Amino acid sequence: MSQYHMPTKVVMGKNCIQDNSELFKVYGDTAIIVTGRSSAKTNGSEKDVVTALEKEGIDYIIYDQVMSNPTVACVYEGAQVARVTKAKFVIAIGGGSPMDAAKAIALLALDYLPEAQLFDNNRHHKALPIIAVPTTAGTGSEVTQYAMITNDVLETKSALASPILFPQIAFMDATYLMSLPKRITINTAIDALSHSVEGMLAVRANPISDALAKDSIGKVMQVLGDIQKMYDQPFDLSYEQREKLLLASMLGGMVIAQTGTTAVHAMGYSLTYFRQIDHGRANGLLLGHFMKLIEKEAPALVKSVLKAMKIETVDMYIDLMEIFLEEKETMTKAEIEKFSDRAARTPNMKNCIVVPTKEGLASVFRDAFAEQ
Ligand code: NAP
Ligand code: ZN
Repeated sequence: MSQYHMPTKVVMGKNCIQDNSELFKVYGDTAIIVTGRSSAKTNGSEKDVVTALEKEGIDYIIYDQVMSNPTVACVYEGAQVARVTKAKFVIAIGGGSPMDAAKAIALLALDYLPEAQLFDNNRHHKALPIIAVPTTAGTGSEVTQYAMITNDVLETKSALASPILFPQIAFMDATYLMSLPKRITINTAIDALSHSVEGMLAVRANPISDALAKDSIGKVMQVLGDIQKMYDQPFDLSYEQREKLLLASMLGGMVIAQTGTTAVHAMGYSLTYFRQIDHGRANGLLLGHFMKLIEKEAPALVKSVLKAMKIETVDMYIDLMEIFLEEKETMTKAEIEKFSDRAARTPNMKNCIVVPTKEGLASVFRDAFAEQ
């Protein structure tokens, strides 16, 4: 039996916020805008949201203190602002970090859980409505029920996961991505790719999620191919290429909303928490070597991923990543031992169609990084 559920209304296209400002009105007369420190102010997204709110007579307050890999302190601070201003809904503008922080803020605004219960997904019963405006093309958080928050108690990134965290609306306008620098564009595109590939290698993969995943993989690989061709020239993607990545990222989000992520994300969280390696980059470094591991047990499945990528072998994917990810980090033996042990104990493992052993995970780390 296959199931598919994604309750978010998606509105996509140039100027979609201004042209649909009446959609905000349904959610009340006061909003909190949750965003990062600077990019929303320079790429035009914050201005478009504010103009739409003013046109509809909606009051707003801006909380613009969200950092990459948002912390517990940040989401409690944002929730406090939402509570004091009696915000009726939350508008998230930015990459995965502001979108995820906004989801946690939406939850805490209505139910100010003690910190010790924030990551207890059985405690999440209500949240303010969320409207998402992605300005990176990678996480797909605008269409998922997840919010990844840094968990210092467990020393990792942990997922708040609940159907109440699906945004009500996602406004997708690639205009805001035109200024996204090369490095962030590549890392986030690889994150989207990883969602769709992991989705195909997940226990809950089904014909619906696979259809979304294959289309998403094809689109990301097409634009990565374009980027590769102009690698030594000034970085310049067209609106159409940006929109293709934005769509691919959303499709990848729709995939993981059904399948969850697998071992690659689980391994990547340690790389981000302990080594400050960017989320998408971490996935890109690991994904090819993980595919090689799975290929030994499930060659036909990996072949279908490669077919969607329009390449012949996993090594061709690894070679492509060598170009995009440039000089690799080194890892010590102790780090590899620690990170594979931690990944092996995550719930993500039971999502994997072929469950890797701890030694298998360690071999992926060894292959992905030069050992110090
Ligand atoms: P991010 O941490 O949201 O943003 C990275 C950087 O990009 C920030 O410095 C940000 O600046 C800048 N930026 C954002 N949009 C820009 C634009 N249009 N132009 C120029 N700069 C821009 O990065 P991300 O990769 O999108 O998100 C990663 C987070 O998402 C991680 O915490 C990851 O765990 C999570 N994630 C969540 C899901 C999910 O389903 N919820 C899935 C995958 C990953 P400002 O700070 O100034 O905005
Ligand atoms: Zn991801």
